[in-house]
Amino acid sequence: MDEIKILDVPIANINKVELLQEIDDHFQMPDGNLFFVTANPEIIMMTKDSTSYKEAVTSADYIVADGIGVLIASKILRAPLREKLPGYELMHDFLAYANRHGKTVYFFGAKPGVAEQAAKNAKAEYRGLKVAGYMDGYTNKGPLVASEIAETKPDFVFVAMGAPLQERWIAKYKDLFPTSVLVGVGGSLDVLSGNVKRAPKFWTSNNLEWLYRLLTQPTRAGRMMKIPIFLMHVVKERFSK
Ligand code: UDP
Repeated sequence: MDEIKILDVPIANINKVELLQEIDDHFQMPDGNLFFVTANPEIIMMTKDSTSYKEAVTSADYIVADGIGVLIASKILRAPLREKLPGYELMHDFLAYANRHGKTVYFFGAKPGVAEQAAKNAKAEYRGLKVAGYMDGYTNKGPLVASEIAETKPDFVFVAMGAPLQERWIAKYKDLFPTSVLVGVGGSLDVLSGNVKRAPKFWTSNNLEWLYRLLTQPTRAGRMMKIPIFLMHVVKERFSK
């Protein structure tokens, strides 16, 4: 697979069409599970600070670029990634795929009640979607809940507990899911449930989702300071070669 290393994290240079083809190939003849990380600057910076987190992230089968920050980094490194694949959009593509192919989905994460509402909304949007179950991301996150989720034999597991928790959780428990596709999707269930609004199309198609989130959720400002720091590290990497 074509990969581009950004601060030592290998990002898959794959587009949506190819990725969905890989999912299809996987379900034709499953050979283990598939673990997806949707990497943003924050996640990449966290791998620099924690070896155990870096191990969890790099144990993924696909690390894809969540947004414009990672795309800009790839341009700075003169190895431009072809496409961004935001977690929320990936989740919808997988939901549509699951619906078309009779695959089951599990929603795990967010505050009590949110995953349930997200499941209801998903069923309304994708008529006939098979929901294996849902669970909030606070009551229990340990081995018991992992086994409980695994018992439902979900084809797709959306783990929405934010980074670094969701990647650590998937890396730790993925062996309980022999053929599932497991994806860390951050705050996506908050959006799918209708509790948080995603940026309107104008903002997303102009690569301004980060600005929309900053304006509507100003408490994220501290976290977003990681983006310029990330880009500074990338520039440093570019000129140290
Ligand atoms: N969350 C959770 N369990 C926890 C901590 C957080 O389920 O112990 C959820 C939280 O409710 C939110 C999501 O994880 O739904 C993280 O959302 P955030 O917007 O931080 O993620 P991002 O999309 O920025 O990665």
